[in-house]
Amino acid sequence: MVPNIKLSTGQDMPQVGFGLWKVDNAICADTVYNAIKVGYRLFDGACDYGNEVEAGQGVARAIKEGIVKREELFIVSKLWNTFHDGDRVEPIVRKQLADWGVDYFDLYLIHFPVALEYVDPSVRYPPGWHYDGSSEIRPSKASIQETWTAMESLVGSGLAKNIGVSNFQAQLLYDLLRYAKIKPATLQIEHHPYLVQPELLRLAKTEGIAVTAYSSFGPASFAEFNMAHAAAITPLLEEATVTAIAAKHGKEPSQVLLRWATQRGLAVIPKSVREKYMQSNLASIEFDLEQSEIDQISNLDKGLRFNQPANYFPTEALWIFG
Ligand code: NAD
Repeated sequence: MVPNIKLSTGQDMPQVGFGLWKVDNAICADTVYNAIKVGYRLFDGACDYGNEVEAGQGVARAIKEGIVKREELFIVSKLWNTFHDGDRVEPIVRKQLADWGVDYFDLYLIHFPVALEYVDPSVRYPPGWHYDGSSEIRPSKASIQETWTAMESLVGSGLAKNIGVSNFQAQLLYDLLRYAKIKPATLQIEHHPYLVQPELLRLAKTEGIAVTAYSSFGPASFAEFNMAHAAAITPLLEEATVTAIAAKHGKEPSQVLLRWATQRGLAVIPKSVREKYMQSNLASIEFDLEQSEIDQISNLDKGLRFNQPANYFPTEALWIFG
């Protein structure tokens, strides 16, 4: 049984969920359906993943077959950068809800603190980073305050039960907290033993913001992008400290990496299309590490970030983690 994290709104969020980034369209509906059968209840989607229609089909099939009810699921989606202008937020949320075939999101996040010029969904969807679809980065003038105010309206209109942010750093969070009428319920960040960000975690804890870790297996998710620093580093799933601790507990290194995060109170959203991995990732919650083991794993920190725009395409315009 997956435990819940109590959000500041009083609502429960499953601590282990399922990530939908890079789940191919052709298998996404079956993957979501299978993940529900395995026991996943939280699904982490986004406009940018381009598979919300198929994810919704998987959900619909599971509901139709009586495996799960809508209210037992926790569906997460994200606002893409090209929809930050205040008047663009609600229309795109309505489209994303229609894609999923549901009438509310349990959690809706600002995907990145980056406002780009609007691209009409009829022109290209998902729009991606580039205005012309290939190389031009064209900013919009929307401030995070403008976008957050529109996000707060989603709660008022019942389209999102909780709202939050992703890929925000401390300085921007402090600013947001000054004007937010509704505090972000969650902060979703890249978090693994090579990128621990302890001070950001302390800020979130102090402010009562739940943290969701993404890319828990570090370089594993980025191997396919030809990132030199992902290829050069020892894979976390093979790292000696992690594998030794796994052997001691009779667990998989992947389970140790997930438990290292959940035992410190974070939520995780591993992605796998293989049922064996789905099960093992979910079962990672069922054992405990010793504090000294948690500390050893935290000491692997290298401040090594994989998920940032300049690692995917050449740009001088998007140093958002600088
Ligand atoms: P991940 O850390 O979950 O790793 C996925 C990779 O690990 C895949 O190659 C998969 O085959 C492999 N894997 C999964 N389970 C395994 C196991 N038990 N043993 C061995 N290998 C295993 O990577 P991710 O997809 O980058 O992150 C998880 C989710 O986080 C995403 O799907 C997405 O929903 C979310 N995410 C959000 C952002 C953001 O900007 N907010 C960015 C990246 C990811």
